[in-house]
This record gives sequence, C-alpha cells and structure tokens, in this order.
Amino acid sequence: MGNPTGFIDVARQLPEDRDAKERLIDWQEVHEHMSEADIKEQASRCMDCGVPFCMSGKSQYAPAVAGCPVNNLIPEWNDLIYRGRWKEALLRLHKTNNFPEFTGRVCPAPCEGSCVLGINADPVTIKHHEVSIIERGFAEGWVVANPPKQRTGQTVAVIGSGPAGLAAAAQLNSAGHLVTLYERADRIGGLLMYGIPNMKLQKEVVERRVQIMAEEGINFVTHTEVGKDISMQRLADEFDSVVIATGATVPRDLPVLGRNAKGVHFAM
Ligand SMILES: Cc1cc2nc3c(=O)[nH]c(=O)nc-3n(C[C@H](O)[C@H](O)[C@H](O)COP(=O)(O)OP(=O)(O)OC[C@H]3O[C@@H](n4cnc5c(N)ncnc54)[C@H](O)[C@@H]3O)c2cc1C
Ligand code: SF4
Repeated sequence: MGNPTGFIDVARQLPEDRDAKERLIDWQEVHEHMSEADIKEQASRCMDCGVPFCMSGKSQYAPAVAGCPVNNLIPEWNDLIYRGRWKEALLRLHKTNNFPEFTGRVCPAPCEGSCVLGINADPVTIKHHEVSIIERGFAEGWVVANPPKQRTGQTVAVIGSGPAGLAAAAQLNSAGHLVTLYERADRIGGLLMYGIPNMKLQKEVVERRVQIMAEEGINFVTHTEVGKDISMQRLADEFDSVVIATGATVPRDLPVLGRNAKGVHFAM
C-alpha cells in the first residue's frame, strides 16, 4: 500500500468512452485507454485490506463471499502498478488467470462488487487494472509462448474451444501433456468468438492468445464435431484422457410479455 491516503484523496475514474459518432460507424471496442499516471493514481486507492474480499470468490465461504472466482491476487498487483513494477504485476496476474485479456474486458467483476472500499465510496477500478496489466505485457513483448520444458508422454483430447476448453488445454499443456483440442466451428474461441460482440471483445484479442497457445504446442483441430465427424470411442481409444468442455449451446427462453414480438431472437 504505497499511498496510505489514496482511498481518501483520489476519486474513482475509468477511461472515457470513444465518441458516440465514431462508434456508430464501427464495431470496435467502446473504451479509450487511460494514461499510465492515471492508472497508477487509481491503483493508489487500494487499501491492501487485511481481509481482501475482492479476491475471495473461490473459498470455503463462497457464495457468501463473492469476490474474484479465480482468486486473482488483486491487492498485490494494485500495489505493483502503483510502484510502476508492471512486469511483476503481470507475473502475479498470470499465476491465477490464463486469460486476463478476456476477463479484464468481459468479466462482470464481482471483485469490484466485493471491494471493501465500496462500502462507503466507489470501489477500486480492479477490472481496468487487470486489462491494463495484460495489455502492457503484450505491448512490451513480455507475453510470449512458454512451452513446457518436459513432456510427460500422456495425451489429452479437449472437446470445445470456449474459455473452459482453452483454460483446460493451457493448464494441461503447461503440465507437459500433449493436448489436442477439437472444435466443431470454423474458428477457435467458443462464445468468445461467436457470442460476445466485438465492442466488448475484439476477435483479434482471442486470436492473439490462440496463436501463443499453438506455439506452446497445443494442436487445434477445427471443423470437427465429436460424435459426428469423429466418435467419442475413437478419442477414448487414442488418448489417455478426454476433457468435455462443450458449453451449453441450448438457448434459454424467457416467457415474458412481448416474447413473441417481431425481431426477438435468441442470442445463440
Ligand atoms: C451473446 C453473448 C454475450 C456474452 N457476453 C458475456 C460477457 O460479456 N461476459 C461474460 O462473462 N460472459 C458472457 N457470455 C457468456 C460466456 O460467453 C459463456 O459463459 C462462456 O463462453 C462459456 O464458456 P464454455 O467454454 O463453457 O462454453 P462455450 O464458449 O459455449 O464453448 C463451447 C465450445 O464447444 C464447442 N462444441 C460443442 N459441442 C461440440 C462437439 N460435440 N464437438 C466439438 N466441439 C463442440 C462449441 O462449438 C463451442 O465452441 C456471453 C454469452 C453470449 C451468448
Ligand atoms: S477489497 Fe478493494 S481496497 Fe481492499 S484489497 Fe481488494 S481492491 Fe483493495
């Protein structure tokens, strides 16, 4: 906690949105970026709480304590941002999160809802710090392929390339297993690619990570529906383990007034 009075002196601030007239003619992300000095000032608002509820989403107290579901080490990287130690912040962020560039853009941020500062003021801008750290990492060239030093000789098939399948593939590959990921669509990413719109998550951001994962040794197989183009039995025979991460794919209907009005469609 570099600035003990930051939470009193500094008001919460987020990046401006791009000009509405400009946004009308494209589908790109809505927010502008903030200067490093401003992000540092925002990070100084973190109180480094003794019990940081922001990072306690996955614990014996969940769901009563509903902070970050991946237990991101939030006060640590808030402090590292404040001190300008961005590379260390990136290392701490990657300890708990395979894809901070996705969560930093589209996560609903239960961390901010649980931030202690939010009791009597506006919470710390945690989500914006997360995306700022990882984008700084990419800009500096710190985020590069890091293939495992040794292979175990074990093989795993992962079915489905949404965030669940991608995270499973990344973890298993980093443990040294040889991972083949099967996806029935033409592109990798699941609903990151074909659900969440560009204005929240540009597709280049997904492709950038998939490219790194391929360089780390993960074999991506698209246009292949397991159960149709390739049987489950064949995967069970050819691989030591199979992970099923196929998502829901079933739309949830909402039987409310106006449901049958013209132009009301399922998002998926
Ligand atoms: C329009 C929309 C907007 C959203 N916005 C947000 C948001 O802003 N923030 C947020 O946190 N969440 C958002 N979500 C929800 C989020 O996208 C999902 O919770 C998340 O993608 C689920 O991840 P998953 O890996 O479990 O499944 P999915 O992303 O659904 O991935 C499953 C993958 O498995 C593949 N698959 C299925 N069966 C087979 C098979 N037999 N063989 C091969 N492949 C198969 C599918 O093609 C798919 O690519 C949004 C969802 C939608 C639809
Ligand atoms: S709860 Fe808020 S103020 Fe406390 S450590 Fe987490 S981000 Fe900082």
